[in-house]
Amino acid sequence: MPKVELHLHLEGSLSSQTLRELSRSKGTCEAEVDRWLEGLRRRNFRYENFQEFIAAYKFVARHLESPADYAFAAERLVEDLARQNVRYAEVTLSAGMVLWKKQGLEAVFEAVARGAADVGAQRGVRINWIFDAVRHFGVEPAREVLQVAARYLDKGVVAFGIGGDEVRGPAELFVDLYREARDLGLHTTAHAGETAGPQSVRAAVELLGAERIGHGLAAAQDPAVLALLRERGVPLEVSLTSNVATGALAQVSDHPLPRFLDEGVCVTLNSDDPGLFGTTLEQEFRLAAETFGLSREQLEGFTANAIHAAFLAEAEKSELRKALQAAL
Ligand SMILES: [Zn+2]
Repeated sequence: MPKVELHLHLEGSLSSQTLRELSRSKGTCEAEVDRWLEGLRRRNFRYENFQEFIAAYKFVARHLESPADYAFAAERLVEDLARQNVRYAEVTLSAGMVLWKKQGLEAVFEAVARGAADVGAQRGVRINWIFDAVRHFGVEPAREVLQVAARYLDKGVVAFGIGGDEVRGPAELFVDLYREARDLGLHTTAHAGETAGPQSVRAAVELLGAERIGHGLAAAQDPAVLALLRERGVPLEVSLTSNVATGALAQVSDHPLPRFLDEGVCVTLNSDDPGLFGTTLEQEFRLAAETFGLSREQLEGFTANAIHAAFLAEAEKSELRKALQAAL
């Protein structure tokens, strides 16, 4: 089935193989990487809690030391997407983490954009980029992310978002920044309701005006928030394995995906951090079908929703829709 993916982190996409190759090319930390990967496999890509997951994310990001490393990761990701028949993806770059590592965000972005575009042109995958700020780093570092994102508007960057710890970086802090993002012409998305309650989803929609919500799990706890998502037509970027891996849910069958569908919320299916969770988008589709007994029409519906929710112009969406229908 041809697919579209909207919630996918470049850093979290690194496969064991890619990470090992990156460390080997430097000849420095291969043993450390091997030990770490072994540990990850032993506990089946599950984390004690969200903090432990964030630590793993940082571990991987630390191995992306140069623009060339980032480009290598992007090329590998696009090859993975092509193998899964993903035709269009909006990939999130943790721009906040690039700046935190004191790397040049412009050089990193130009390298990943070029790498992804080159491989994408050969393999028939189109990529756009979302710049993500780390919400628990606070507002000023996030503003720096936004300023660079704006420079690359129409050059591959389509949106600004926030991710990380919702409790330490609540939406209230970012109201002005989201307004600035909109004024600059960027689309907006926000992780919400992943590690905090339904109020966090409401705040992302009402205060930030986020056009899409990453995860939105906690919305299921409050019928009024579900109604808000439905009435405003705010799509959710659902990632089943991710929510179990970070400890948000005990098991996949606890996921409120069926509730979201019953309530008429626009749902898209995503892999989030496939390398860190040992999954793929294909696997997420299979998991949704097997766990919740979804039909092929419902699975195709996730892709139709993803095209609808994509940060593309209407003409581009209808072209993508036609291409996917032809492939089906
Ligand atoms: Zn995410």
